[in-house]
Amino acid sequence: MSELFGRTLRDDPADAEVPSHRLLVRAGYVRRVAPGVYSWLPLGLAVLRNVEEIVREEMVAIGAQEVLFPALIPRDVFDRSGRWADYGDALFRLKDRRQTDYLLAPTHEEMFTLTVKAECSSYKDLPLSLFQIQTKYRDEARPRAGVMRGREFVMKDSYSFDLDDAGLARSYQAHRDAYERIFTRLGLTYRIVGAVSGAMGGSASEEFLAPAQVGEDTFVECSGCDYAANTEAVAIASPPSQSDGHLAMTILDTPDTATITALVDALNTHPKLNGRTFTAADTLKNLVVKTRAPGATVWELAVIGVPGDRNVDLKRLAAQLEPTEVEVAGPEDLERHPGLIAGYIGPQLLASLNIPYLVDPLIAEGSVWVTGANQSGRHAIDVVRGRDFVPDDEIGAVEIVDGDLCVRCGAPLRVARGIELGHVFQLGRKYAEVFGLEVLGPDGKPKVVTMGSYGIGISRAVAALAEQTLDDLGLCWPRSVAPADVHLVATGKGNVPFEAGELLASELQSGGVTVLYDDRRGVSTGIKFRDAEMIGIPTIVTAGRGLADGLVEVRDRATNERRDLPLATAAGIISQSLRTTESLFS
Ligand code: ATP
Ligand code: MG
Repeated sequence: MSELFGRTLRDDPADAEVPSHRLLVRAGYVRRVAPGVYSWLPLGLAVLRNVEEIVREEMVAIGAQEVLFPALIPRDVFDRSGRWADYGDALFRLKDRRQTDYLLAPTHEEMFTLTVKAECSSYKDLPLSLFQIQTKYRDEARPRAGVMRGREFVMKDSYSFDLDDAGLARSYQAHRDAYERIFTRLGLTYRIVGAVSGAMGGSASEEFLAPAQVGEDTFVECSGCDYAANTEAVAIASPPSQSDGHLAMTILDTPDTATITALVDALNTHPKLNGRTFTAADTLKNLVVKTRAPGATVWELAVIGVPGDRNVDLKRLAAQLEPTEVEVAGPEDLERHPGLIAGYIGPQLLASLNIPYLVDPLIAEGSVWVTGANQSGRHAIDVVRGRDFVPDDEIGAVEIVDGDLCVRCGAPLRVARGIELGHVFQLGRKYAEVFGLEVLGPDGKPKVVTMGSYGIGISRAVAALAEQTLDDLGLCWPRSVAPADVHLVATGKGNVPFEAGELLASELQSGGVTVLYDDRRGVSTGIKFRDAEMIGIPTIVTAGRGLADGLVEVRDRATNERRDLPLATAAGIISQSLRTTESLFS
């Protein structure tokens, strides 16, 4: 500790929103350079390397071979996939001295596909899995929580190459199993949830999420079956369609009812609606959004219909529409369409305005609604989907809430938050087709290769681990990734504690135990313990007062169990317990 580069800080960094970020900075693991750009100090780098090594071992164990691609990629490579244009603002673009365009790769599909195309020509070269552990660049709109969402971050990405769908399914399963082993070895709690396959196309797609309050993803778990999905990808049970017994659509004067609350109040006191009661759930909320396809210069309007008692989840919409961007339309956008009257929009009119109308599946075929009459101060009641309006499409748009019903078994869903640790998905032939990645099949005919794509956020996993394991005292690493096995504190007056510490440290090290030794003189016991607790190495050994009786104290950082051991045998007992993973305290 007297030599360790980096120091612990007394105060929280001003920009730290989440506990793991706060502690990784305070305990001397990382330092901020720019928004979403961090340096790793020795303690942090040790954890990062430990995570990397576990990931590497499990990738090699399924037969994947390690490669390393550059981060700096010429534009041409991304032009060929269309992503120079499609990737949007998140792509770091730059020019060299000759004014040639380059980018800093956010992900490496193109490079893997091109490289395999150059090296492989026969079905005998397949199946093939390649991986790298490499730095990625994304100009994230909102870098957040330190290394959890960086603009520069370390990712393990791998790709599988197979001749047919059955081969892809096997490669996918092998990666999925490897991911389970990785996250278990890392000591992370995780859930596997259904995910959207996004801009890159493909079919089977699952994410590994670390449940955590600070996570940016929300996911559902069914209380009745094993259905689990990212809310971006979730389907919920929709109400049955109603085919008959509908009243005719009626237009009512409802002055000053631009909000749903005002509308419901007006309906429940409306002279013409004696005896009928309405709630927000009977109304149809129509949200005007604007969308912009990749490369397009103008935004197009669209209207999204959801039940009036539900919110629209823009992130969920965006995930399904990607790479097309989506935003809520503003007053200036509505002005371009005089037919759209804010507060009184109804779908009856949209087709004639040439504005696409998309409804959430909760707006079932034959369902009956109160909605705007496209005239200021007027609403229509008994408006029936399929009779009075026909949506252009359905899209899961509502914000999912606890109690929404499972699409598989009908039981209530629970909503929770999580951090996306990894993503496995079947990319299929999209990139292989674009780049002409073919091999000669057993019949001598060329066949397009099918690919799987698998990512793990290595630097994000460090943050997620910190977040899941920290406690009131500080970081609290699982042994598998901790920067050392033992934090040895020598404390007290004179040379005795330091001589004992020196001896113990060298004995532990020769027993294969890694040690962070607090050999600092003139630093108080209180500060030493506070630092040890904050740094979060799993075993804290103290050579201090007990030395008078020939004893050192061993303490488990996570459980706070303590035990005295004779100085003479302590190193042997500790290294033995680490080798056998038997608890020192039972
Ligand atoms: P997110 O939805 O969190 O932005 P993503 O869907 O863009 O993630 P992928 O492109 O699938 O992520 O990347 C693979 C993995 O890389 C993710 O599962 C995540 O763990 C990690 N990752 C992605 N973006 C970042 C980032 N900005 N900072 C740190 N890790 C990241
Ligand atoms: Mg992302």
